[in-house]
Amino acid sequence: MTGNDPETVHPLCRPVTGLRGVAARLAARLERLGVRTVQDLLFHLPLRYEDRTRHVPIGGLQPGIEALVRGRVDLAEIVQGRRRRLLCRISDGTGALTLVFFHFHPAQLKRLRQGTCVACYGEARRGLDTLEMIHPEIQLQGGSAGEITEEETLTPVYPTTEGVNQTTLRRLLAQALTLARSDLPDPLQPHLPKEFSLPGLLGALTTLHAPPAGTDVEALTGGWHPAVQRLALEELLAHHLSLRKLRVDARRRTRAPVLRGTGQLVARFLQALPFRLTTAQQRVDRQIAADMASAAPMMRLVQGDVGSGKTVVAALATLRSVESGLQAAVMAPTELLAEQHYRNFRDWLAPLGVEVAWLSGRQAARTRRMMLERIGGGDSGVVVGTHALFQEQVEFHRLGLVVVDEQHRFGVHQRLALREKGQSETAQPHQLIMTATPIPRTLAMTAYADLDVSVIDELPPGRTPVTTAAVPDVRRGEVVAAVKRACAEGRQAYWVCTLIEESDALQAQAAEETATLLTETLPQVTVGLVHGRMKPADKEAVMDAFACGRTQLLVATTVIEVGVDVPNASLMIIENPERLGLAQLHQLRGRVGRGSAASSCLLLYHPPLSEAARKRLGVLRRTSDGFEIARQDLEIRGPGELLGTRQTGAWAFRVTDLARDAAQLPRVQELADILLREAPQVAEALIHRWVGEARRYGRV
Ligand code: ADP
Ligand code: MG
Repeated sequence: MTGNDPETVHPLCRPVTGLRGVAARLAARLERLGVRTVQDLLFHLPLRYEDRTRHVPIGGLQPGIEALVRGRVDLAEIVQGRRRRLLCRISDGTGALTLVFFHFHPAQLKRLRQGTCVACYGEARRGLDTLEMIHPEIQLQGGSAGEITEEETLTPVYPTTEGVNQTTLRRLLAQALTLARSDLPDPLQPHLPKEFSLPGLLGALTTLHAPPAGTDVEALTGGWHPAVQRLALEELLAHHLSLRKLRVDARRRTRAPVLRGTGQLVARFLQALPFRLTTAQQRVDRQIAADMASAAPMMRLVQGDVGSGKTVVAALATLRSVESGLQAAVMAPTELLAEQHYRNFRDWLAPLGVEVAWLSGRQAARTRRMMLERIGGGDSGVVVGTHALFQEQVEFHRLGLVVVDEQHRFGVHQRLALREKGQSETAQPHQLIMTATPIPRTLAMTAYADLDVSVIDELPPGRTPVTTAAVPDVRRGEVVAAVKRACAEGRQAYWVCTLIEESDALQAQAAEETATLLTETLPQVTVGLVHGRMKPADKEAVMDAFACGRTQLLVATTVIEVGVDVPNASLMIIENPERLGLAQLHQLRGRVGRGSAASSCLLLYHPPLSEAARKRLGVLRRTSDGFEIARQDLEIRGPGELLGTRQTGAWAFRVTDLARDAAQLPRVQELADILLREAPQVAEALIHRWVGEARRYGRV
């Protein structure tokens, strides 16, 4: 099934232009549907089905349901009125039906003579005195082409695009199925355990494109029919296998520097820390150290709930690199977080004699040039910055480790781009990815099959749980009073303004207005303001003032979502929490509950709440366990959202709906193990069929 010679290309892998009646123009239109080859056509599944397998007695028609009926014309007439129309009443002894045509040719009236037999297909609707069908497909008895007759199978209705109609798609699919019947490789089927009770690939495709009368259509369109499950399983398996292959290839092809370190910096760092590492931190640190001491590039994902102490673990990894004479890069998704990491790392590492450089998209050209020089010359051991750091030409002296913090919004494409960044074909730095979005284990193992996963499943001791309450915005006054009380007691608070708009400018404006208002209402409270549009130096000043307690209330946009760490802040107000997803709310709330004071979070919502929003806020009130929240999120939104749209975009599933098919994931693992062990050539064939060249993932 590989190779470019048309003779050796499998018929199903050939372009659709090989089918009867497909010229360049139609092929171009089909391409808009993602259909290039015959096989693509086979995986272009119907949206729904029409039942023309039998006609329904007119008396048995249901409003809202499409059906095929037969009857005799009782009466046909053109009615003037608000809109001129042709009405034709037919009956079959069980009832009467009115056919309504707004667009018609006067000659049509002549043909609909009383007593003429007609067949028509359409959706019945309630009319004045009978049910009616507006513009049904209609066929007079003895009519010529395209007669409406009972079909043997249900009629598929496909997703389509301009210039491609259903008839064309059905005709092409019939040809494709014929080709498939003569030769459709189905290497997976022999490896599927009997108890899965799934049909073979050809059987599944036939059921989907030409379901026999009586097929459970709801199960087909809903996706729980074994025919759909069979395709989804194969597709998920192929994607999972391609990630595993990527990883195996990367390990075989590339080498990373062996970073054993001397242990000196690490020891001094741990000694200076005001706390002991948790058992979970120690365990993950050991896993990372072992990875880095090997010549196979580390590709490790560290999952840990908000506040579980991932930064310290990252710092330890950077020190191991520096101890071995190589540099480490630390990347954060936002400027604010990068700045905070920079301050943290500088405060931790500078006393150990390790120079920390900072790169930001907004820094002055002169500073930047200087930083780049110190990075290139190897003076800076650790470099902290936003992802912009890697998007531009940054020359490292010798880079040993890349740490990517809070990476939950990056898909496999981004991960791979990063891995390849600035590296030679055969050497790459170790890579550590930190995420606070706990992804249920089975999903993580499938979606991150190219990574090893560690979990920091323990919070540092002494944390008090955050009490969360939802308050409608009519009670805003009480919330403001709560802020006043907290500040009077020497506590600090966040007030987070959210907006649906992605626009930085609008977010900033909303935060500015809120800050002004709160400053007026709470003259005894010092109010700070931070948003994404401020200059880095100003942001740093505001954060510093809040961190050391000079400001008591920090009004912020969701820029503080990730990473910001001020232990004395113990109250958080989130305005319009109904606009945010669970993961984001959990992240935000994670900014409080970091110290020893009892913390609370008030969700100041604007009623009425949608069903989904009420569910989300309910989950948040009940639990603060990130894994539990992720599980609920998975239920409410589905894994596509959880992994970030870019993730699923990168996967580009044809059949699979991750939300719908999540239950298949454990099977995917199991099957992948079996195939890789017993039939690697089958794994290759599946990857080729569903993912195409695995190389595709490497390009961005
Ligand atoms: P996150 O995992 O959300 O990135 P951070 O690394 O920001 O969490 O850590 C949250 C806070 O907990 C920080 O103030 C950090 O210094 C502190 N911390 C980390 N590890 C420990 C520990 N083992 N004991 C006590 N405090 C810790
Ligand atoms: Mg963090």
